[in-house]
Amino acid sequence: MRFCFEQKDFIEQQINPYQLAVIDDKRELTWIQFEEEVNNICFYFKEKGWDKIANPIILYGHKQAEMINVIYALMKMKLVYIPMDIIYPKQRISSIQKIANVELIINCTDNLLDFDKTTEIQVKSKEFIITKENNVTLNSNANIEDPLVYIIFTSGSTGEPKGVQISSKAVQTFTHWMMNDFGFSSKDIFINIANFSFDLSVYELMSFGAIGSTLLLNDLETTKDSEVLMNRIEKYKGSIWVSTPSFALTYARIGYDNRLESLRYFLFCGETLPHTLALTLHKEFPSAIVYNTYGPTEATVATTLVEITKEILEKYNPLPVGYPKPDCEILIETENKEDNEGEIVIVGEHVSMGYFNNEDLNKEKFFIHKGKRAFRTGDLAYYKDEMLFCKGRNDDQIKMHGFRIELNEITNVICKNELVSTAVTVGLKRNNEVKKIVSFVISKNTVSNYELKETLVNYLKQSLPYYMIPGDIDIVNEFPYSTSHKIDRKKLIDEYLKRKLV
Ligand code: AMP
Repeated sequence: MRFCFEQKDFIEQQINPYQLAVIDDKRELTWIQFEEEVNNICFYFKEKGWDKIANPIILYGHKQAEMINVIYALMKMKLVYIPMDIIYPKQRISSIQKIANVELIINCTDNLLDFDKTTEIQVKSKEFIITKENNVTLNSNANIEDPLVYIIFTSGSTGEPKGVQISSKAVQTFTHWMMNDFGFSSKDIFINIANFSFDLSVYELMSFGAIGSTLLLNDLETTKDSEVLMNRIEKYKGSIWVSTPSFALTYARIGYDNRLESLRYFLFCGETLPHTLALTLHKEFPSAIVYNTYGPTEATVATTLVEITKEILEKYNPLPVGYPKPDCEILIETENKEDNEGEIVIVGEHVSMGYFNNEDLNKEKFFIHKGKRAFRTGDLAYYKDEMLFCKGRNDDQIKMHGFRIELNEITNVICKNELVSTAVTVGLKRNNEVKKIVSFVISKNTVSNYELKETLVNYLKQSLPYYMIPGDIDIVNEFPYSTSHKIDRKKLIDEYLKRKLV
């Protein structure tokens, strides 16, 4: 049995329906049970008339099997979902609810969101409890040629998160690629690490369904303790590791461990794959395949792929991010014709329809190239031996510990505080990796610096997820400026480091 994205339904195959489909920390659902629970949700929605809901639906939770059931039910009904993990503060979810006109919230936790003008429903295995009821707008999505599947909100430089809209065809082309080019089989067990608010999780979320394999969910309690994670992988014989390199290296400290003998593949995306990590994996897991993939959320998870073979390891450092996937084109936009390095532009059906309700930014970032959607990534790269090599960014978007962050979003939130005159946020790097975020703040001098710092930390925690909270807030009297009248960030950082050393 597997989920066919073209038909938006489960189809029979020569695969054991009693095989496990979804495993969370409480339940193990076979494919038959999974299908039953998905259909049960669809039935309930139809009864309520909600199968024609017009606006996106927030799905709130953390790694419950119910989240997967709801996502597959919503896909069947062609309804759009916004995945929201519990790591997000309520205020951020509330602003997303307003940006996307959300009227229905499906909650898989016991923590009610209770927002005005919404209907909220708790889903607990086969049970549905309406905890708040309001009108919902109905309007069938069924006749739209390429309906949206999900909207993932990422950090936005204006101070508000931006919603990346991903359509049905984008998901289909992505799952076809996964089914055809990666070598995965229905016997494989995808080890989920990322939460569903991040598009890295779409790798395993969509692939296990398309292939008819198994999805092993791991919650925060499990992923924060590598011992617990390793035991769980051993218990369920997890075979496909999907994570950012940071997670594998820093949190899981992955290396030889006889509990990991079932691993067949390492699938990386989201940031530079360090040569040393690939080398360790080759040494400790000689029969496993290591894949490096690259792509932004705006182009459905990943756009390039390369198997990091022994030959590639020996020949390249830094490692390539790979070859473009079929049915897509990667252009390098250079300033001068003779340059071979420039900005990556991704063209293809897997490119997002644009940011939700954000025409100005859409004009800047998205366009049509030869009849297909194209996205300017902000990533700098070059081709060598037909493979793409990433070289960094042309803006202030960073990755820290695998998380995508726009430094300007932090600055803009800080500047909205009434005690602040102005601010600037930087990422401090070591070995080319951002290790710490520092916000420099000029105060309005209405409170002491100590008080301002305390207030800002608590204030930021209300609207930003933990990984976006600056490691330090430095109150300064003024910013150094360059001759072109821009804030001299290098000087600011140098002075900061000097002060910290004293
Ligand atoms: P996200 O939307 O969170 O997946 O982040 C996308 C960004 O992560 C890209 O635009 C790149 O800057 C970076 N990225 C993704 N994959 C890789 C990779 N394999 N190597 C280097 N950077 C990557």
